[in-house]
Order: sequence, then structure tokens, then C-alpha cells
Amino acid sequence: MIIAVDGPTASGKGTIAQRLADHYGLKRLDTGSLYRAVGLAVVDAGGDPGDEDAAVAAAEKLDLGAIDQYRIRSSAAGLAASKVAAMPKVRVVLRRAQRVFANDPQGAVLDGRDIGTVICPDAQVKLFVTADLDVRTERRLKELRGRGETIEFEELKAQIAERDRRDMERADSPLYQAPDAHLLDTTGLSIEAAVEAACRIVDAALARPGT
Ligand code: C5P
Repeated sequence: MIIAVDGPTASGKGTIAQRLADHYGLKRLDTGSLYRAVGLAVVDAGGDPGDEDAAVAAAEKLDLGAIDQYRIRSSAAGLAASKVAAMPKVRVVLRRAQRVFANDPQGAVLDGRDIGTVICPDAQVKLFVTADLDVRTERRLKELRGRGETIEFEELKAQIAERDRRDMERADSPLYQAPDAHLLDTTGLSIEAAVEAACRIVDAALARPGT
């Protein structure tokens, strides 16, 4: 079984994807981490994440098992990620890695922006997780402050809105809800309530004949 979870930044999709993977005994790939790792690798090498050749080279060298899960969560890595993610050549390289992961016969949960639309269009279950911009900003603010980053609400909100715009307006694999994806708005939901709602959607999909 493949479960595709898409949605904008800080919508709760990562937490939901991990909890679904635990619940159904599937492995999980946070595909945003690949774009973040590529953006960070370019910046670490003193390059500009807008430099396509450098980004493609970093994508080709990416080792999924060696991604620094702490460093890629910085706001700088997030911004760099959304720049390299707009480059079709980078997406071609990372698409291969994502499809290899998804094709494992044991099944998988993948979360990102284009999983249900491009990477796994035949996924058995698709979720589109979203939340109000203010709520998403508040969640990300908590996470970044927990890391010791000093950023104000309004500045972060503008950054997230900018990333949303870039993700939704890019020509290659933009963020949008697949027609067969279930919408899950986590705005007023606790993590537990959001995970329960996600499990209900998956269980209902699995109960459908032919799934
Ligand atoms: O989900 P996360 O915020 O970690 O993703 C970082 C960036 O990677 C996103 O802003 C988006 O530009 C890009 N991304 C993407 N396609 C995916 C996952 C992430 O373009 N499947």
C-alpha cells in the first residue's frame, strides 16, 4: 500500500505521515528533506541555491541515509529548498530516488507536495493536509524558537507565504490537491485528532472494494 500525503509547510503533514507509517507498519519518506538537503549542500559549499548546475550536482550526490535531520530543519534550508525545488532538472534526479523508495513491495508513506499528483499518482490513499496560514506560522515559529532561531511572527508568515506561492506557481510539479485526494484541514485540530482523522480516511479507503 502506498499512502501519499501532500500539503503546504507546517500543515501537519509530516507528523501525520509518520504516525500513519507507524500505525500501518509502513516505511516513510519525508520528500521535503531531499530538497532541503540539496539546498543546504549548495549553501554549505558556498554556492547559491539559485544556481541550477550546483543544485543538480548536489542532487546527484545526495545520500538519503546521510541527511543531517537537524540541520535541514532550519528556515534557511527551507528557503534554499524551495528554490532548488523549482528546478525541473533537480526534480528529475530526486523523482528517481522517490520512486525507488515508493516501489518497495512492503509499501510506503511519502509526504511532500507532488506525491499524489506526480510521484505516486496510483497511490491507494491520498491525503491533502492543510491549515490556515496563521496557524501554520505559529507552529513553525514554535519549532524554530525551540531550535534557538530568533524570528518574528510577521517575518516568518511572509516567508511561509512566499514559499507557498513558489510551490503553487512553479511550472513543474506545483502543489495542488489531486482530484482523488481527501482534504484534511488541521486548523482547529490537535495532533491526536488530526492523526485519528487521517486513520479514519485510510481505513475507509482500505475498506473500499478493489483497494
Ligand atoms: O515539506 P518541507 O517544508 O520540508 O519542504 C521543503 C521544500 O521542498 C518545499 O517548500 C518545497 O519547495 C519543496 N518540496 C517539493 N516537493 C516535495 C517536497 C518538498 O517541491 N515533494
